[in-house]
Amino acid sequence: MRLLDLYLTLRLALSTAVHTLAGRVKGRSYVPHPRTMLFIEPTSHCNLECSFCTYRLDRHPRLTLDMERFEDYVAQARAMGFADMVLTPINGDVFMDRTILDKLRLLDRLKDGPGIILYTNLIGASAEQLGEILALARLKMFQVSIYGHDFETFRRITGRGQVQFRRLLANLETIADLVAQGVVPQALSICVRTERHYRLEDEASGELHVLLRRLISLGIPVSVQSCLDDWGGLVAETDLDGLDMPLIRGRLIPKNGACIEPFYNVQILADGRVNACACRSVGEDLIIGDLRQDDLKTILSARNPAYTGLIERQQKGDFPQTCRGCSFYRSIYDRRIRNASPLGHMSLEQFHTFLSRE
Ligand code: SF4
Ligand code: SF4
Repeated sequence: MRLLDLYLTLRLALSTAVHTLAGRVKGRSYVPHPRTMLFIEPTSHCNLECSFCTYRLDRHPRLTLDMERFEDYVAQARAMGFADMVLTPINGDVFMDRTILDKLRLLDRLKDGPGIILYTNLIGASAEQLGEILALARLKMFQVSIYGHDFETFRRITGRGQVQFRRLLANLETIADLVAQGVVPQALSICVRTERHYRLEDEASGELHVLLRRLISLGIPVSVQSCLDDWGGLVAETDLDGLDMPLIRGRLIPKNGACIEPFYNVQILADGRVNACACRSVGEDLIIGDLRQDDLKTILSARNPAYTGLIERQQKGDFPQTCRGCSFYRSIYDRRIRNASPLGHMSLEQFHTFLSRE
C-alpha cells in the first residue's frame, strides 16, 4: 500500500473510531429521517468502464426499468411520503435509459410531487434532453461527474476514447450556453474526479480545463475529488494504471453501530429488488426485499425481518461482508452526520417507533 493511501486510510479510521465511540458511550444516535429520499435505479447500464468502479466487474444485473413498474414504484413511494427521488444507479448512467425523459416528465407533473435528484457522467445526454431536464420545475439536484481533467486522464480512467470525450465536451458546452441564457437552475453542480495534482485555478490550457473555468465563471459550482474507495477490496492499486489518486482501504475503517445508509438511502433496483444501501452495495447481502413479491411499505417496515435484522446485526457489530470492507460507512453515533438529512434526524429508538407505525 502506498504511504499516502495508508496515511489517509488511518486518518479516516481514527476520526471514525473517536466520533462513533463518543456518541455510543453517551447513548446519542442521529438517524437521518427515513423519508428523506428514495433511490430508484432507472437502468443499470453504463457507457464507461471506470478503473475504480465495479461496473466493469459485472456484479450487478444489467437492466432497464420499464415505465409501468416505475410508475408503480413512484406511487408507492409517494404514498409513504418520501421527500425526494434519486434516479441514479449504483453502477450505471441515467442517460443509458431511453425512457429517462418520460420518467422525469412523470415525476415533474405530479402535484406536490417529490424533488428530483440526478447524478450523471453526461456523455449519453443530448442537447435537447439537457435543455428540458434543466428546466424541470422539480429538479433539486443535477450533479455531473467528470472522470479525468484532460483527454489522457479521461482515457486512463474510463477506458474510452475521443468519441466519448468529445460528447462530454459538447454537452458541457450546451450546459454553459444554457447557463449563459439564464435557463439553468441552482441545482447544477460538477464534480471532477481526477488526479491529486490537478488544480482548477491553474491557467493551463486544454479543452476540458478551459470549459470548466468557463462554467465556474458562470457561477456553476465545480469541485475536484481525488480520493477513491476500494469497494471492499474489489478495486486494487493495480487497477489504477499509475493514476495519482489515493485509494482508501475500507477494511481498515472501524465499524461501531449501524450505518446511516439503510435508514435513508434505500434503493429500488431495476429488477425490483430493494437494496438497503444505494452507495456501495453491488452484491446480494444488503437486499431486504423484492417488489415483485411485496409492497414497499411492507419491505420498509418492522414487519420485515430482513430490514430490521440488518440494522440489528450492524448494531451488534456483525456487518455483512460488503459493509465490512466499506469506507463509506457512517455510524448513526457519529455526531458529524446529524445534518445529513434536510428533514432532520431521530434517535434509534424513535426510528423503531416510526417503523412500527408504518
Ligand atoms: S460512469 Fe460511474 S457507473 Fe459508469 S463506470 Fe464510471 S464510475 Fe462506474
Ligand atoms: S457500510 Fe457501506 S455498504 Fe454498508 S450500508 Fe454503509 S455505506 Fe452501505
